[in-house]
Amino acid sequence: MTNIAEIAEMDRRTVLHPFTYLKDYATGDADPTIMETGKGVRIQDATGREYIDGFAGLYCVNIGYGRTEVAEAIARQAYKLAYYHSYAAHTTEELARLSDRLVKMAPGNMSKVFYGLSGSDANETQAKIVWYYNNLRGKPLKKKIISRERGYHGCSVVAGSMTGLSFYHEHMDLPVSGILRTGVPHFYRGAHPGETEEAFSQRRADELEALIIAEGPDTVGAFIAEPVLGTGGITPPPDGYWPKIQAVLQKYDVLLIADEVICGFGRTGAMFGSHLYGMEPDLVTVAKGLTSAYVPLSASIVSQKIYDVMEEATPRVGSFSHGYTYSGHPIGAAAANAVLDIVEREDLAGQSAKKGAYLMMRLKAAFEQNPIVGEVRGVGMLAAVEFVADRGKKAAFDPALKVGARISQAARNRNLIARAMPHGDILGFAPPLIMTEAEIDEMVSIAKAAVDEVFKELD
Ligand code: PLP
Repeated sequence: MTNIAEIAEMDRRTVLHPFTYLKDYATGDADPTIMETGKGVRIQDATGREYIDGFAGLYCVNIGYGRTEVAEAIARQAYKLAYYHSYAAHTTEELARLSDRLVKMAPGNMSKVFYGLSGSDANETQAKIVWYYNNLRGKPLKKKIISRERGYHGCSVVAGSMTGLSFYHEHMDLPVSGILRTGVPHFYRGAHPGETEEAFSQRRADELEALIIAEGPDTVGAFIAEPVLGTGGITPPPDGYWPKIQAVLQKYDVLLIADEVICGFGRTGAMFGSHLYGMEPDLVTVAKGLTSAYVPLSASIVSQKIYDVMEEATPRVGSFSHGYTYSGHPIGAAAANAVLDIVEREDLAGQSAKKGAYLMMRLKAAFEQNPIVGEVRGVGMLAAVEFVADRGKKAAFDPALKVGARISQAARNRNLIARAMPHGDILGFAPPLIMTEAEIDEMVSIAKAAVDEVFKELD
């Protein structure tokens, strides 16, 4: 068997890792962590060191690691038929079954499901569907897509442009044209003194309306947003936000794309974030929790309203000319059906609501009085602790201090994976939805020790 040093050397020589300081890795200043096995909420590296995965990979392993029934469903499909494409109306039983359940369970009035492999490509598809739809219904100028500051929608060309975090754009010639930006609904950071959540939400909706009017409503095709802003800081919307935003979108005939890549399948305590906030999207993007990341699979779910226009146009425009080799991959569909069986049977959305309330209670008890904690926030099994240099002024730390990254590292040194969110000093939690209360206790007490350690260093 190849030993750890050999694997590390091979990896260092050949893998281009995402979000890695290339020079540090190349020169040996940073080492790889070779992950090997996982069970439940724990994951083990090749040295035998075990971590609590407080972030479920990248908010995706919702059912936890090592669920053999999913592995068996994948193997069954691989033995039976590992691959066939879904072009020209080819399908499999697993694909048809999965699509039927997604259309029924998704928010809004959904009709059809298009499959990809990642959240990024699914959002790329959504943009093309918005453009296609408006071309087909004779509105060729209605193409701009509005996203939010700090929204995250992926890193491909159009999805990466919709992402409202500048480090995804710098040195990579993004964003492309036709993508507009509106304000982030983060009450703690954005509210004026004395402003209520409702008033703040109204201000955000007014800003959106002003942007649509300034650009010309006939040029704005869609608004894309995560029900709960994720990578940009794990920020649940303030009171009244979604009804007010949707009223503006409806007024100007602007489609709503709900990016449910994180929120979908129970993460927020409802099956979809859209359900929790009363959103009625025209397009829904899912990935991550769809297969709990056991295999790559994403989907762009299309409403009846949009699909009807697409179908009606067929005699004029021919077939729907968009598709990937792996669209509707049978192994992905089999994995998703097995995962959704677990999600439904174990009521993971309900579990997420219940355990999430417990997690929030424990995080508040551990951190709310801490002098470097500005806000403890979250919904369901999605939570964040934001650190500040001055609570009264909500002043951020000097970025050079890398407070968030140091706290995450201190947690890691204690065998807890909690993510330093890429924007600001924020520690994020998104554990598998199956995490028990005892495991939540363990996770929060490690996080507290990590924060205390860094707090002492800052003193
Ligand atoms: N949309 C949201 C809300 C996400 O959180 C992510 C990934 O974190 C994506 C899209 C992109 O998904 P992927 O990394 O699978 O391309």
